[in-house]
Amino acid sequence: MPFIFDPTYLLLIPAILLSLYAQTKVQTTFNKYMRVPARSGITGAQAARELLKQNQIYDIKVEQVSGRLSDHYDPRSKILRLSPEVYSNHSLASLGVAAHEVGHAFQHASEYAPLKLRSAIVPVANIGSSLAMPLLLFGLILSIPALVQIGIIAFSAAVLFQLITLPVEFNASNRAIAALESGGMIQGDEAGPTRKVLNAAALTYVAATLMSVLQLLRLILISGGRRNRR
Ligand SMILES: [Zn+2]
Repeated sequence: MPFIFDPTYLLLIPAILLSLYAQTKVQTTFNKYMRVPARSGITGAQAARELLKQNQIYDIKVEQVSGRLSDHYDPRSKILRLSPEVYSNHSLASLGVAAHEVGHAFQHASEYAPLKLRSAIVPVANIGSSLAMPLLLFGLILSIPALVQIGIIAFSAAVLFQLITLPVEFNASNRAIAALESGGMIQGDEAGPTRKVLNAAALTYVAATLMSVLQLLRLILISGGRRNRR
């Protein structure tokens, strides 16, 4: 039973630990800077609308969405959705998260290459991640190496998607801080704490990527082990 009691599971431990750390870090950092008001006194929603306007982007709507840290930019409907805490608070955390989503809107408007690449491989990555495990499982059970290999290739598509997500996320955060500063919404020593919130959020993406890379390595080891045993 390679998928149940397998020592290669140990490989995933660093990713599990990093993921737990990142989850905690993002919550504590967000909570901490949720209580620190920005001197500019504007809310996340006001900051988002102002930043879009300052950059001559007039066709993107800013709306409120339910949930916690559920903030996202939807490029298809051109709607920037902010969670209630981000939407109506004037904390550094709110401004940081709102500006990060605006950063994605800037990427979309400027046809930022990694974002285009990521959008292009979404369908492949989705098919890959849903087919990989069944293919691997059948390949291993029925001892069909070709099926195992196709499964690994399918899984690699999902890993590639995770990898391309990293530059997209870091770039959105960089754009966010720069735009908030040049727009006068955060000043001087406020940039540091705002960046901390965004770095903590980015760490969750790093953890997810590490998990998928190690998972891929594990699958390669399992398939190699199987081949040698025959
Ligand atoms: Zn993002």
